[in-house]
Amino acid sequence: METILSIENLSVEYTVGKKIISAVRNVSLTLNKGDSLSIVGESGCGKSTLGLSMLNLLPKEARITGGKIIFHNQDILRFDKKEMQKIRGGKIGIVFQDPLSSLNPVIKILQQIRETLKIHRRDYSEEKIGKLLEAVQLNDTKRIKNSYPHQLSGGMRQRIMIAIAIASDPEILIADEPTTSLDVTIQKEILELIKKLIRELNLTVIFITHNFGIVSDLCNKIAVMYAGEIVEGGGISEILKNPRHPYTKALLSAIPKKDNLVKFNTIPGSVSDLASLPSGCKFNPRCPRKIAKCVQEDPQLECKENRFLRCFNP
Ligand code: ATP
Ligand code: MG
Repeated sequence: METILSIENLSVEYTVGKKIISAVRNVSLTLNKGDSLSIVGESGCGKSTLGLSMLNLLPKEARITGGKIIFHNQDILRFDKKEMQKIRGGKIGIVFQDPLSSLNPVIKILQQIRETLKIHRRDYSEEKIGKLLEAVQLNDTKRIKNSYPHQLSGGMRQRIMIAIAIASDPEILIADEPTTSLDVTIQKEILELIKKLIRELNLTVIFITHNFGIVSDLCNKIAVMYAGEIVEGGGISEILKNPRHPYTKALLSAIPKKDNLVKFNTIPGSVSDLASLPSGCKFNPRCPRKIAKCVQEDPQLECKENRFLRCFNP
């Protein structure tokens, strides 16, 4: 299996005033061609920070304090601006949660898609743009091409973002909560579209979400993040069948059941303040299986038969 992206011991911090927020710590991941990896965890666990690092799109408060991101045998963290631009929106496409803030409000859709195609030296004819819009299942392409973002619905805007992300035939697509801002029926349609594109374009995908419920038929691998660290990872069916980390178990039991939408569990407590993390396991303040060692020592991420686990007492 060809590895196309590997992240090695990546750590990222934000500096806010005197506070240092340790948003990503020692994260390692491997993505093989054709993989579809979901990164799952509650709000504030560092998922977007991890996704943005892969494209060098971190805001200025952020600093990568260690690690490597190897894309086709090259560490992209060493790339200069120009080399990075070729990767970003070129070989790696990204779709964000909020399409309105990623599109330029004063430029018509046609021009926005055309810009991306130009930067990456692709055919930017109207015909090609029409085909891209059809690929994301937008009809009435003439009207859409001549619209401004605010004239389209949320679902349509997200389809445009996906069209822009796939315009340069990327190898990897990073989707960061692509359906969170949409209502439930539209969410389903966008997920179906992403599934179709993965198949048709042979995309390798990183799918960031806090919703465990939607990853099972989209992804083959999963990494569960808690407070900036990966706590469990592996093949999706094994993890869903037999979750071992108490945090993964808690996330899974928080999914509303089909036959009982009224009662669902929430995980007690909240993610620790990433500027003052507890000693030992970062999940220990919320963990039902805590033992003395969990407060004294940091558990390491251990790998057994392609499954990763960071826990003293699973
Ligand atoms: P969500 O599910 O809400 O999108 P997330 O898992 O994507 O959350 P991140 O956005 O990566 O989490 O944030 C991780 C931590 O970094 C949080 O504590 C957040 O407050 C902090 N953080 C994120 N962006 C910044 C920033 N620009 N400046 C300072 N702190 C930040
Ligand atoms: Mg996020």
